[in-house]
Amino acid sequence: MSGDGPSGSGGGSGTGSGHVWLVGAGPGDPGLITEAGLAALQRAEVVLYDRLAPHALLDQCPAETLLINAGKAAGDHVMTQDEINASLVEYAAAGRRVVRLKGGDPYVFGRGGEEAAALAEAGLGFSVVPGVTSAIGGLAVAGIPVTHRGVASSFAVITGHEDPTKPGQSVRWDRLATAVDTLVVLMGVGRIETIAAALIDGGCDPSTPAALVHAAATPDQRVAEATLAGVAAEARREGIEAPALFVVGDVVALRAQLRGGGTLAGKRVLVTRSRSQASTLVELLRAEGALPVELPAIEIQRRTDPAAVGRTARALSGGNYGWTIFTSTNAVEVFIDLLAERDLDARAFAGTRLCAIGKATARALRQRGLIADLVPDDATSEGVVEAMSTAMGQAAVAGATVLLPRAEGGRDALPDGLRAAGATVDELTLYLSAPPAEPPAEAMALVREGKIDAVTFTSSSTVKNLSTLLGGDLSALRDATIACIGPSTAETAEALGLPPNAVAAEHTVPGLVAALRTHLHSTQSEPAAQAEPGTAEATP
Ligand code: SAH
Repeated sequence: MSGDGPSGSGGGSGTGSGHVWLVGAGPGDPGLITEAGLAALQRAEVVLYDRLAPHALLDQCPAETLLINAGKAAGDHVMTQDEINASLVEYAAAGRRVVRLKGGDPYVFGRGGEEAAALAEAGLGFSVVPGVTSAIGGLAVAGIPVTHRGVASSFAVITGHEDPTKPGQSVRWDRLATAVDTLVVLMGVGRIETIAAALIDGGCDPSTPAALVHAAATPDQRVAEATLAGVAAEARREGIEAPALFVVGDVVALRAQLRGGGTLAGKRVLVTRSRSQASTLVELLRAEGALPVELPAIEIQRRTDPAAVGRTARALSGGNYGWTIFTSTNAVEVFIDLLAERDLDARAFAGTRLCAIGKATARALRQRGLIADLVPDDATSEGVVEAMSTAMGQAAVAGATVLLPRAEGGRDALPDGLRAAGATVDELTLYLSAPPAEPPAEAMALVREGKIDAVTFTSSSTVKNLSTLLGGDLSALRDATIACIGPSTAETAEALGLPPNAVAAEHTVPGLVAALRTHLHSTQSEPAAQAEPGTAEATP
C-alpha cells in the first residue's frame, strides 16, 4: 500500500501489514481537507485525531471505525507523544488502516515528523497527506495574505512556545525582526507581550500592523487588529484565546479590503438540514462569505410496514394510480430503494403520472431515471391541486387515485386538499425525520450561547426538531435572523416562537439564501440610505 499517498511514502509495508496516513485536516473548515485526506478517512479502520482537526470530518469515517481522541489541549494531555507513536505502531503492526488526523499540515509544528520516524523505525508503511497549514490558509480565510506584491516578499512561520526572555533560545527574534516581511507566530497567545517586545528590541517598527486570529476558518473566528506595540492589549480586550495565529507585517492592513464584504460576510448561519442534504446550502452560504454552522436537526429513519409496501408496489405496477406525488427528495430515495429491494425498477411507474413538489425533488427523480410530468410552481396544497387540475382538468382530479409516499407525522394539508377536490389518496408511510441522538456539541454550544446570527429552515420538521433538540426552548435564537424556505415552514417557525424575518419567494435552497441576503441587505443599508443627501429622509 505504500505509494498510495501523494508524497513521502515510507517503505516497509508488506502484504497484510497495516499502513498509517499522516493526514493534514486543513486550517479549520472541514471543507478545506484535501481529496487524498478525505479518501483516507473514508477507508480508515482506526483514526487518532487531534483537538485542532475539525471533528466534523470524523463523520466521513465508516460507522465501525475506531475513533481515538489524542487531543492535546495545553496542560491537559489526553495522550503523550510517546503514547501516540506507540499506538500508531501498534495498530499498523496489527494490519490496520490507520489515519493520524492533524490540524493544518502534519509537518508544520504538528510533530508529524516524529510519528513518521517512529513508523519508519518499526519498519511500517506510512504516507504523508499534506494539509493547508493554518499559518497560511487560516490567515487567508481571515483576509490576510502572507505575501503581497509590493507589500511583503517573504514570510516566516515561527513557534511562540519558547520564552523569548530565557537564554538558549532557538528562535532569533532579533534577526527575524528585520529579515522577514511577514511573521506568523503559532502557539504564541500566552506570550504576545514578550514576543512583541523582543521584535521591537530587534528593530521592528512598533507601528507595524499586527493581528491575532482566533479559530481561523471556523464559525468561531475572531480577529483583534492593532499595531505591534498595541496588539497585546487589544487581544486582551477582545478576550482572544488559543488557538490563535499571531501575525506581524504590513499585509495585515490589507485585511480591510480583502476580508470580503458581502451582506453575509462573517455571519454565523445555522444550517438545520440533514447532513446528506446540506451541502448545496453550505456551499452557497460560504460563497457569500458566511460561516455556516451545521446542526442537522433531521435524521431519516425508515418506518415502513412491509405488507403495505407490498400492496402499494403491486397496485403501482398494475397501473392503479393516476398520479404519484413525491413531496421530498427523501420520499423519492426511500420509496425507490424499497421498490428495488422488491426487484422493481422504473418500469413500475409506467402507468402513473409523476408530480414532484420542488425542483430538488424533481432532480432526485431524474437522478433515478424518472422525469416528473408536473412540478408545481406553488408548493402549497392549494397550488398542487390547482396545478394538477390545470394539467388534466378539474373532473380528472375528482376521479383520480393518487399515491402519496410520505413521512410519518408529516403535514396533512396535501392529502386533505386532494380529498377535498375529490381524489382518492393512498398514503404510504416511509420514514420518520427525527432529531439526531447525538447532535454536534460545538454547534449546540454556539446556539445556546446566543452566537448564531441567522437560522435557515428548509422544512417544518427542521423547526420542530431543532426545538426538540433545545428542550422546547428556542429563546437562544430570539435575536437571530430567521429564514424559511416557504410559507408552511414559516408558519411552523412562527407557531414555535420564531417569527420569520425572511421567507423565500422561490421555494428552493438558492431562493432561501437570496431571501436571507435581501433581508440582511435591507436591514444593514438602512442607516446608510438615511444619511444619503438628497433623499427625503436625509438629515443635516
Ligand atoms: N499543524 C498545524 C499547527 C499545529 S501547532 C498547522 O499547520 O496549522 C498549533 C497552533 O496552530 C495553535 O496554537 C495555533 O497557533 C495554530 N492554529 C492551528 N489551527 C488554527 C486555527 N484554526 N486558528 C488559529 N490558529 C490555529
